Amino acid sequence: MKAKPNITSMEIYIPGRVIEGAEKLSSNENPLGPSPLALAAIKDALPEIHRYPDGACVKLRAKIGELWGLDADNVLAANGSDELLVLLAAALIHPDCNAVSARQTFSQYRYAVRLFGGKMREKPLLSGFYNLSGMLELINSDTKVVFLCNPNNPTGTYRGSQELEDFLHKVPAETVVALDEAYADFADAKDFPNSKALLAKFPNLLVLRTFSKIYGLAGLRIGYAVGRPELIGELAKAAMPFNVNSLAQAAASAALADTEHRNNTLRLVHTEKKFLETELNKRGILNYPTQANFICFALEREIGSIWKWIAQRGIALRELDSFGLPKMARYTLGGRTHNQLLLKILDGLPP
Ligand SMILES: *Cc1c(COP(=O)(O)O)cnc(C)c1O
Repeated sequence: MKAKPNITSMEIYIPGRVIEGAEKLSSNENPLGPSPLALAAIKDALPEIHRYPDGACVKLRAKIGELWGLDADNVLAANGSDELLVLLAAALIHPDCNAVSARQTFSQYRYAVRLFGGKMREKPLLSGFYNLSGMLELINSDTKVVFLCNPNNPTGTYRGSQELEDFLHKVPAETVVALDEAYADFADAKDFPNSKALLAKFPNLLVLRTFSKIYGLAGLRIGYAVGRPELIGELAKAAMPFNVNSLAQAAASAALADTEHRNNTLRLVHTEKKFLETELNKRGILNYPTQANFICFALEREIGSIWKWIAQRGIALRELDSFGLPKMARYTLGGRTHNQLLLKILDGLPP
């Protein structure tokens, strides 16, 4: 048996790990848990799980469409936004073409492109930020997709409205721009891009959102894409039937309506972001200004050498070797108790 070369050269995804007794703050999950309304909706949906789910996610897509001022035809739900990346690659990527993104970003862009034999062209970040003009230089007539993570995982940095719009104007119309906004809900910068407005301007734009972060539904696997119906329709063809399970559909609909849970989450994340940024800066620990629910900071040593030591003291950090940042760590903003524990651990790091 010999697998295809694009598969043999791939690496297995390594998720944020945890050890017993440590708080898992390595996967950017919601520290408040799922929305209570989502939990109630799941309970209501349970007696019907012998039925196949609604394969077209009709109700959920209509709700999301309403939220974006668009039609259900502009929306595709999938088994996590990870699946949307695969569907996009399935629809567009073949071995003779390429995709462009950043080097230090979400690894699933590279995964999706390689899965279909395409080449990945990656531009290193510029001081922790997406190098948009550098990425433009990597785009050629064979570039099918540009992946842009805003705010960026793992740095939490973002590109503002004007910069992004200038960039979108320069991307060829035949190249799809996948704007991954997994953390856009947490952004509070005044000039954070309004993707709804951008969708109206740029027909080659596809916006990706997830229920895994602010909505606290990571375990159910559900995300969605918004874009023009022609593109959405092609992605839908690439999807397996019934890819979004019935509990996920029910929970997602309910979570969208739970503004209280959403506001509580935002209040916590914004308060703790300020607290932790201030405390890290006081200590002279380099950190990137974050617009997400996590913070990326320098450890000044290979994290592999210290990860377990830190975890044994109560915090499981995200290692960033696979993101191309081996001497940094990503930490999900937790509650104040855990954030204080993190600082205590950092204060006591062995030399
Ligand atoms: C967490 C995350 C997602 C969401 O993935 P799901 O498959 O929806 O859980 C997407 N993009 C980025 C950058 C993420 O960090």
